[in-house]
Amino acid sequence: MDQRVNESIQVPDEHPFPDDAGVAYIDGEFMPIAEAKIPVTDFGFSRSDVTYDVVHVWNGQFFRLDDHIDRFAASVAGTRLTLPFGTDILRETLLEVVARSGLREAYVDMILTRGVPPRGCRDLRLCTNHSLILYAVPFVWVVPREKIASGGHMIISDIPRIPKESVNSKYKNFHWGDFTQSLFDAYEKGGDTTVLPDADGNITEGPGFNVFMIREGAVFTGPDNVLEGITRRTVLELCAEIGVETRVQTFKADDMRAADEIFISSTAGGIMPITKIDHTILGNGVPGPLTTRLFNLYWANKLSGWHGTPVNYD
Ligand code: PLP
Repeated sequence: MDQRVNESIQVPDEHPFPDDAGVAYIDGEFMPIAEAKIPVTDFGFSRSDVTYDVVHVWNGQFFRLDDHIDRFAASVAGTRLTLPFGTDILRETLLEVVARSGLREAYVDMILTRGVPPRGCRDLRLCTNHSLILYAVPFVWVVPREKIASGGHMIISDIPRIPKESVNSKYKNFHWGDFTQSLFDAYEKGGDTTVLPDADGNITEGPGFNVFMIREGAVFTGPDNVLEGITRRTVLELCAEIGVETRVQTFKADDMRAADEIFISSTAGGIMPITKIDHTILGNGVPGPLTTRLFNLYWANKLSGWHGTPVNYD
């Protein structure tokens, strides 16, 4: 008999960390996270005119660091910003931020803002003083950690996702107004999180994650109007590794409600099961067998150093 039939989700333990843990780097200086500040006149703050990327560290190792740096560089170029130095120095500085924080499990953000316009002027081309902000704080879970083993409750939003023609979803951005409203609606309906359809009703993504559904043994994820998540890529690779069929194609809310299993993927939490959708329990109300298998494989591979870059804490 296949031993995996009895497999259950094993959420890995984190190292303890102090409440004030976290280190930031802003424009050449390192500081405790509580002291990290940007000018209120920076368009990064007042216009969400910014791009960013988030990578994580688990058990003292970055996961897919170079993939995140490559995506950040593409977002920077696509947002018409310029990094103050090359990606080799960016990489070293990210490693230093995490080493200084001492965090073994960390959420590591890299942000580049448009900067402050000259006085009395709104010409974006004259904002030359971008701020590069890098910081490491304790690891973040987009579905509460204590709900991972049993699975979260997802509400399908009535609000359509901002179209990619308006804001390019491939470049990571702070245009989260649709996500924020949808999340509050989901909380009011008793959910943990939400997913947004596009204007044609195709399921896109949620606040900080990509979405997958499983039907008849195949794993589906939306092709369009989504961030090309690094964890999404990882899931597709894991499926290939274990011979599971994947279909990157559109699907709608009703397809999700009829799914066998649903999970979401993000740097902030990895693979996270969804066991209730719009108040309907999926399957047996516990993470399904394929989600569980992918979840445990993701963590086992990572703990063995897969795609890892160790941090030197000395
Ligand atoms: N979609 C959105 C809108 C996100 O903000 C994120 C991550 O923050 C994701 C998807 C998942 O991407 P990744 O797996 O690279 O973290």
